Amino acid sequence: MEIGLKLDEIERAYMAMTPRSKELFEESMKITPAGVHHASMIKPWPIERGVVPPFIHEAKGQYMWDADGNKYCDYFNHGVLFLGHAHPAVVKAIQEQAARGGAMMGDHTDLQIRHVKKIISMVPCAEEVRFCNSGTEATMYAIRIARAYTKREKVGKFAGDFHGANDQLYVAVGAPYDKPQSGGIPSDCYKNTIVLTENDVEGLEKAVKQHDFAAIICEFIHGSGEAGMQMDLDFLKALREITEENGVVLIADEVISGFRMAPGGAQEYLGVTPDLTAMGKMIGGGIGGSGGFCGKSEVMEIVNTKVPGRERWEAAITCGTFSGNAISMAAGYAALDTIDEAKGELNRYANRLGDRAREELNEFFEAQKIKAQAIGTGSLVNVQFTEKPIQYVQDLAATDKKAQYRYHLWMATQGIFTLPGCNFYISAVHTEEDIDFLTEKTKEYLKKA
Ligand code: PMP
Repeated sequence: MEIGLKLDEIERAYMAMTPRSKELFEESMKITPAGVHHASMIKPWPIERGVVPPFIHEAKGQYMWDADGNKYCDYFNHGVLFLGHAHPAVVKAIQEQAARGGAMMGDHTDLQIRHVKKIISMVPCAEEVRFCNSGTEATMYAIRIARAYTKREKVGKFAGDFHGANDQLYVAVGAPYDKPQSGGIPSDCYKNTIVLTENDVEGLEKAVKQHDFAAIICEFIHGSGEAGMQMDLDFLKALREITEENGVVLIADEVISGFRMAPGGAQEYLGVTPDLTAMGKMIGGGIGGSGGFCGKSEVMEIVNTKVPGRERWEAAITCGTFSGNAISMAAGYAALDTIDEAKGELNRYANRLGDRAREELNEFFEAQKIKAQAIGTGSLVNVQFTEKPIQYVQDLAATDKKAQYRYHLWMATQGIFTLPGCNFYISAVHTEEDIDFLTEKTKEYLKKA
């Protein structure tokens, strides 16, 4: 039996409420490939049936309004806005900095030092920090640093993990695992990328013996693709030990989990400290153009081009016109300071909301014998449609993706939005009532089945 309402009924209801978004999408399609600026954002939408993403006109707190005036409780926003849309402290910081000179102040600013100090005070592995412009840049630079530091070339990544669209890491994100995820990536670009399997300590040991790894990169908590699942802690600890013993730089991709799971990110939440961390999204207060990497001085030091006797080609060069730009620094500081000042309470609060949503949904699924389960970690909640228990990321393949799409699209018709198939990213500005609404609407939907 199919779970949920019939597909065409849901799609008709959604299309009836989004005619202006459809017009905008069609206009955009003529001048922008696929009509959107981020390939993944169009993936779940069956545009051939006229179902298009909502175009957002305004957003504040936990809400957003589309071009048709529909109000949604926003659980998506690319997992960026842990403090919600237009947080007053962030808006104030942006306005003040815009008036003081904007993003490009001409040269260095004291805002950079203040923000670096804030990050060092929050993130366990951070002894030094440098900024860049996105999460993609952050992971790209982190592996460059690891390679320059170790003077080795191979990099390990786990099947299923997404680390941004940079050529060397854009492999084995989704099936087929033996091909790059995009055209235009020559095989030379990823010939030094070795794909690893999570929760396979033996395989990991073998790979580390076989390859001279500069680094292994992973998400301690899978923020984007893999349903908010936490890496198995025993496996993560083994990974930490094996990398340490073999001089392999362990890079945590905390682009989503950073400043969310705890003030110090997944590494604080799980108590495992990497050598380097790639950061994005919240590091710039969620305003865009936000990225950075941090880590142990011993490793980060290879970025320094001013060491006597060190040739430029020995150092890891990281640059970018807008790296450390003043708007990101001001907005990022305001956001992180807000999180820091709350001494973990905002993080614990959002995590508690996530726990509550999972608990209530799972109780309901069980009582009603519905083949679904709510999974994820803390504030990352994900509803999967399968009866197969999902313990490891490998188990996610069992989910019924079509059922997931129907559920999320119906939820959108009820004013609850996340990208179909994606996590509900709960933020510190969502309320208990928002979670009531989310769980009640899910129950209502599934009772209609
Ligand atoms: N790493 C992870 C885990 C991500 O989720 C993302 C983006 N969603 C990136 C890296 C890339 O970040 P950006 O989109 O800022 O380049």
